[in-house]
Amino acid sequence: MHIPLRQLFLAHVAQTSPAPLGLEIERAEGIWLYGKEGKRWIDFISGISVSNVGHRHPHVLAAIQHQLDRYMHLMVYGEYVQSPQVKLASALAEVSDGLDCVYFVNSGTEATEGALKLARRATGRTKLISFRNAYHGSTMGSLSLMSEPMFTDPFKPLIPDVIHLDSGDINALEAIDESTAAVVFECVRGEAGAIPLDQSYAQAIMDRCRSTGALLIADEIQSGFGRTGTFFAYQHYGIRPDIVLMAKGMGGGMPIGAFLAGRDLMHSLSNNPVLGHITTFGGHPVSCAAAMATLELIRTPEMPSQVANHEAFIRKRLQHPGILEISGRGLLLSARFRDEHTAQAVIRHCIENGLITDWFLFAPDRLRISPPLTISPQELELACDILLNAVEACCG
Ligand code: PMP
Repeated sequence: MHIPLRQLFLAHVAQTSPAPLGLEIERAEGIWLYGKEGKRWIDFISGISVSNVGHRHPHVLAAIQHQLDRYMHLMVYGEYVQSPQVKLASALAEVSDGLDCVYFVNSGTEATEGALKLARRATGRTKLISFRNAYHGSTMGSLSLMSEPMFTDPFKPLIPDVIHLDSGDINALEAIDESTAAVVFECVRGEAGAIPLDQSYAQAIMDRCRSTGALLIADEIQSGFGRTGTFFAYQHYGIRPDIVLMAKGMGGGMPIGAFLAGRDLMHSLSNNPVLGHITTFGGHPVSCAAAMATLELIRTPEMPSQVANHEAFIRKRLQHPGILEISGRGLLLSARFRDEHTAQAVIRHCIENGLITDWFLFAPDRLRISPPLTISPQELELACDILLNAVEACCG
């Protein structure tokens, strides 16, 4: 008896919601996802900020193939000298303003967890500070940084001594004091609906950290690897975090994450206790090779202006009375609608007509605009046309 794949998916693959998208994808290339019977969709969200260089970029595929022919896993992280890790770490040190030591992990939430441990270990302090409507991961430590009780209450008790501040509230920054180990923040708050920080607020967070000795942790998991135009979003602001988190777009479609810090700071994870943070698969050689190829594609002189041109096109093209606002920076953008129902209707209409988009965890009235950075002007025009048709159909 033939059981449809979708039925097996619903029966045996753990679900994260009662209503998964459930599209059956057979192949992906560039900005396109291909399904059965000639169906195809533009991936306008890059698999949620992952496929920054598109799907199956030939340069990434060649790097993966090259590494597959040499070795895959050899030994738990940090014991052997593995050239894909060393090359990638050296390249990351070059793009991150003097943060010259990388700890490789497998995902975004692991980067957050490692950084929280590093901050507590290095400062000897316990208090952690984050901002409301921020998402830094789903495991116990990173979940503790989330303030929304709907998502956190069923899993309590979480880790103690975490304070959540309203982003933009200057007076609230007084909570950052001499007992604070770290402040975790995003320059463009992804799940709040792609909302950039004001320059003065970003500066104020950094100043407060400097005057109290709290470490500044920039979560670049969604905003990094070129997504906002600069390699990391904090580079728009002229600030310098102590620790940078990355994942998602980093691997060009392969799983990898990292946290980056100065060598002296990072050193505190390898003594007192020795093996203060360990991982088996962190920095998998094939993922590192893919990440190096991705970094090479993003770190070109043309990429910042390409992203800026795409952003300008989107802002100009998506003018419609139904779209109340376009927020964000570079290609981490959102379109806001009058309410959640309208946004959901537009999203559904887009997907039915060949454009994959989505909402945000803390902004269901917004639609996600984060295509691969490598999208061509013609492809972007086509995507905007499908979106505008949906807005026209749903907003009248
Ligand atoms: N931080 C941010 C800003 C994110 O957007 C995400 C994922 N949406 C994470 C952390 C967690 O990453 P992961 O899903 O790889 O654990």
